[in-house]
Amino acid sequence: MRIETVAVHAGTEVDEGSQAVTPPIVLSTTFARDPDGSFPGGHIYTRSSNPNRAELEQAVAALEGGAAAAAFASGMAAIAGIFQSLEPGAHVLAPGDSYHGTVHVLRQVFDRWGLAFDFVDMRDPAAVAAAMRPSTRLLWIETPSNPMLHMVDIAALADLAHRHGAMAAVDNTWATPLLQRPLDHGCDLVMHSTTKYLGGHSDVLGGVVVTRRQDAFFERLLAVLRLGGAVPSPFDCWLIRRGIRTLPARMRVHCDNAEVVAQFLAGHPMVERVHYPGLPSHPGHDLARRQMRRFGGMLSFEVRGGRDAAMAVAAGVEIFARATSLGGVESLIEHRASIEGPDSKTPQSLLRVSVGLENAEDLVADLDHALSTLQ
Ligand SMILES: *Cc1c(COP(=O)(O)O)cnc(C)c1O
Repeated sequence: MRIETVAVHAGTEVDEGSQAVTPPIVLSTTFARDPDGSFPGGHIYTRSSNPNRAELEQAVAALEGGAAAAAFASGMAAIAGIFQSLEPGAHVLAPGDSYHGTVHVLRQVFDRWGLAFDFVDMRDPAAVAAAMRPSTRLLWIETPSNPMLHMVDIAALADLAHRHGAMAAVDNTWATPLLQRPLDHGCDLVMHSTTKYLGGHSDVLGGVVVTRRQDAFFERLLAVLRLGGAVPSPFDCWLIRRGIRTLPARMRVHCDNAEVVAQFLAGHPMVERVHYPGLPSHPGHDLARRQMRRFGGMLSFEVRGGRDAAMAVAAGVEIFARATSLGGVESLIEHRASIEGPDSKTPQSLLRVSVGLENAEDLVADLDHALSTLQ
């Protein structure tokens, strides 16, 4: 089955009891035993497993081409679950431009639990090799990165990690398995904030980890999930599974629209720079062509005139919502440095855009109007 078919069908069957084509939401927290003490439905208690969570896990594992998946209550719970599955004293190497929640959970939570970590620019393989330690257990990869859309070579980094006895993990939230499948490039783990494109409608929070093998690491991850208890509700799982059914179709439009918006911005006199891997001028364009099926729905741009000009553009749009997050049907725009706080390295002139599923010409007209207020 090709990926569009997998997205619609994986993990989902017509319900045996009711013949419902769309899976029922199973809210029961507990499941009955047969007289012989067995659990014929395969579930005991919803914190351990639930039919809706199992469907979601099967679907994402199939989309990423992995052996198993574990669904968490949020992307951050999934990230924390991965770090908790390492042992104290283990060293994690992460990109300097990691998602800010990843940086903060390492600094504020895992530092105290004895996890060591460093941040490095992963566009520079020599710097990554130099930062590896004998205790490095995990190389954390994010590409395209937030909010500068830097591209890094997944296959080369996975190879480097393995040569040093470490696992390679990719936060694949921005690309989705439709555009990029890290396990195909040799990685061991893939993580998603399903809050974003997989859910797709900005109405549910979730996270998932897919592993290449159903191994001891996966068993530790499951223990963190089930005993730590940061599990998604059955309804949340159902919503995310529903979102995934339209993921291939939505990603086509996200990519189409982002290409149009990026090209418009690249030609606008009040725009200094556009960060979008689909533009031939992007330094990671060739790598993106090799590594991704298409270039995604996320981009950022720098407005001439610094922070005030950027804020004025954000204030001037009418279709885009001024909000953080990404991957929903609606277009969003945000002044990234504001959300990242005082230690942010993001340029003050930068606006990050999640290009939604509206008509591309309407989006361009909205940005054009907002930019015209600058002249
Ligand atoms: C949103 C996001 C996360 C965190 O996910 P939550 O669901 O908000 O906890 C992690 N990584 C990336 C790249 C994200 O965009």
